[in-house]
Amino acid sequence: MATEKQDSSRKRPPNFRIEIPGDETVKSRVLEKLQRVKSYLTSTLNKPVNNSLIIEELLDFWIKQQLGSDNTKELHPFPSTYSQTRRQDVDQGLFVTAEKSLDTYGELFEAHTSICNGKLKVLKRTMKGHVASVRLMCTKEKSHSYLWSSSSYLPNDEFLVNHRICHAFYSSGLLPVHYTRFVNGAGIGCITKDRRSKFFRKYKEHAENESVQSVHNAINDEISSYDDLDGINIMTDARHGWRKNAEDTTVVALGEKTHKVMDCEHVTKSQDKVAQRHERLGTQKIYENLENKMCPLKFMHMIEIWL
Ligand SMILES: [Zn+2]
Repeated sequence: MATEKQDSSRKRPPNFRIEIPGDETVKSRVLEKLQRVKSYLTSTLNKPVNNSLIIEELLDFWIKQQLGSDNTKELHPFPSTYSQTRRQDVDQGLFVTAEKSLDTYGELFEAHTSICNGKLKVLKRTMKGHVASVRLMCTKEKSHSYLWSSSSYLPNDEFLVNHRICHAFYSSGLLPVHYTRFVNGAGIGCITKDRRSKFFRKYKEHAENESVQSVHNAINDEISSYDDLDGINIMTDARHGWRKNAEDTTVVALGEKTHKVMDCEHVTKSQDKVAQRHERLGTQKIYENLENKMCPLKFMHMIEIWL
């Protein structure tokens, strides 16, 4: 227990500083709590108390609460969560994981710690797309061996992580070669071409349904943005596959008020072998589509951007 030495020369007693991070709010909060403990201790101990006495009282109280008795048990040494990568570890296996899977790992670890004081180490890691399937083995007892995956499963028995990345890939416009170069460069596993194609067949169906619904809603939103119900204005833009003699062209029509997609037409060389006519063809098709949907057009602005 700390004591304040009062010597005859009235020198300050030996002291040390503890740095506490925090702004003025934290400071006043901490000081207020210290003051409350100080008042309590002063009245119960019936003597003046200093900061070291307060802090020691608090720590002893906490240790007693948490560990049963004052110093019978050692505090569990917690490893630092900040770690620096060693040179030899820069090529270690990387994978994609999901928050819930991390929780599962924590639960597995806790359950093992409750029955055994061995450590769980990674024995083997197998990549399944971007998911790591990890064999964990106890350092003390060989029968303590567990399999953990960095992703949970979906009802179709596929991994959530892989589906999410397939979704990102197909909605990003990346070419397959860009995907493989990117993931191989990052070293985060790769979803095979077969699995990507299998995903795509299902995804296409859903994307088409979503697209139809989205266009339907967008047209309604655009119509309701006008005071007069005699028609809407659209803007069109064509995106060509290549700068010259494009193989295919996508023409998109946006509502003038909402800037939402009203329609989208894809024209290929099988429809017209002259690429320069693709935009006109696409735009005509859009006119027909919108008219069929009982959506009269007032004006049409053409905005064309060549990329
Ligand atoms: Zn064990």
